[in-house]
Amino acid sequence: MTVTAPEPLVSVDPRTGRTLGRYAVHGRAEVAERVAAARAAAPAWARLGHAGRARDLDAWRRLMLRRVGELVGLISAETGKTRADAQLEAILVANHLRWAAAHAGRVLRPRRVPAGMLAFHHTATVEHHPLGVVGVIGPWNYPAFIPIGPVAHALAAGNTVVFKPSEYTPAVGTWLVDTFTEATGRHDVFQAVFGRGDTGAALCRSGVDKVAFTGSTQTGRRVMAACAENLTPVLLECGGKDAVIVDRDADLEAAADAVVWGGLANAGQTCVGVERVYVHQDVADRFTEAVAGRAAALRTGPGPDAHIGPMATPGQPGVVLDHVRDALRRGGRAVLGGPESVRAPYVSPVILADVPEDADVLTRETFGPVLVINRVRSAAEAVEKANACAYGLGAAVFSRTRGTAIARRLRVGMVSVNSVLAFAGIPGLPFGGTGASGFGRVHGPEGLREFTRTQSLARQWLRPPVQPLSFRRPDRTMDALVRLVRVVHGAGRGSRRHHPRSR
Ligand code: NDP
Repeated sequence: MTVTAPEPLVSVDPRTGRTLGRYAVHGRAEVAERVAAARAAAPAWARLGHAGRARDLDAWRRLMLRRVGELVGLISAETGKTRADAQLEAILVANHLRWAAAHAGRVLRPRRVPAGMLAFHHTATVEHHPLGVVGVIGPWNYPAFIPIGPVAHALAAGNTVVFKPSEYTPAVGTWLVDTFTEATGRHDVFQAVFGRGDTGAALCRSGVDKVAFTGSTQTGRRVMAACAENLTPVLLECGGKDAVIVDRDADLEAAADAVVWGGLANAGQTCVGVERVYVHQDVADRFTEAVAGRAAALRTGPGPDAHIGPMATPGQPGVVLDHVRDALRRGGRAVLGGPESVRAPYVSPVILADVPEDADVLTRETFGPVLVINRVRSAAEAVEKANACAYGLGAAVFSRTRGTAIARRLRVGMVSVNSVLAFAGIPGLPFGGTGASGFGRVHGPEGLREFTRTQSLARQWLRPPVQPLSFRRPDRTMDALVRLVRVVHGAGRGSRRHHPRSR
């Protein structure tokens, strides 16, 4: 039987249809080879220690910044995103990488914890050790910024990494690996494998010590199922349906400006992009007008002056069209644009209002330049509607006086108050969601700890006169200990007075 090699990946510029490159697909055997090489490289990388790794990661970051024009060009070419959006992505890459390198030593250093009265003869320490090899699976919408989260944190924590970029963005993935190798001279510490779902699945089954996946919820489920076979731990950063609450005392101009950018930048293909807006009825008309006015002024198209580029993948305009049609069929109102805004690969802004809450555009990820603005009677109703969603990734609240209080009631992993998406650019803040948006965190201290094995160390430094962890313990010793514990826990004789019925 002849086994035909899988079709190579063809990287295409969605603005022009021009082929940017071809990439041979890695099958199970090649993935296993890369993982074995990464495993062989892991001890030396771990032994470098935090200071040594920080030096290498800093050298990588500086090289990337010296060549930032290349990175911006590649991101734009493979995803079609505007130059400004690609530049923002490159800035975020540098900031997150710097944070991970600078803070890993502090966050992951051994930490003494109190041993407690009964274990006074021990020192108790929590240590964080590298896992070994981490598999990273990335999406196409932010082909550098999204993977740099798990890649930088896993490397900084002392792991080696095998990265599978999306089939749509292999060139950006290659560039990241090549610049790392060039800056550090290390070949197997950070490698890439190329392919489609099969390659990702092979990475999940390859025996890596953890998989960090970013992508759709549907694929996340498959990744988790594949990882379950070997009990490989998994971190899932999945989709979102982020809501913004605009309360009656909000700065409406600021809120409109932020919502338009948060919903339409990167052609709406942002996991933490704004998709739903719940606005207080007292200010709904003024707010909706301000949003529509700003959105109408944006240019969509291929040119360098465009604010909104093409959808990055061929299937996405169809999804957007289906959601817009479904919303209108169910009685939603088109404030700006409509089905005619979808002219693949471009979609110009669509603003919908008064859409029933069970419409696809309010329950599924639209991932296009579409905003839904629904009015509510109160902030409490806005919170209830925002939370009535399977996803729980990010959110934002605009209010002059109650923003933080409202934010705390949202069932999401991240919230910005009086801005949108701010949490994604602050490297010390953990990034991740809940519910259908996945679990686990990248960025911040939690992001570093995700890629470590926590080890608890209890070291006895004094041989105690009374040893309860021995068969040689006398009964009277245990009786005395129980009496002592009762006193320590406030359950001694005196405490009965508070519970007259207890005996
Ligand atoms: P997909 O889920 O389609 O793909 C994500 C990655 O998984 C790709 O590299 C893909 O490969 C790979 N893959 C596909 N099938 C399998 C499989 N069976 N086993 C293992 N890996 C597999 O997501 P998209 O690339 O379309 O990205 C967009 C999605 O990502 C959106 O839902 C968005 O919300 C989400 N996202 C979430 C973020 C977050 O942090 N929560 C951030 C950014 C995006 P291939 O591309 O080759 O098919």
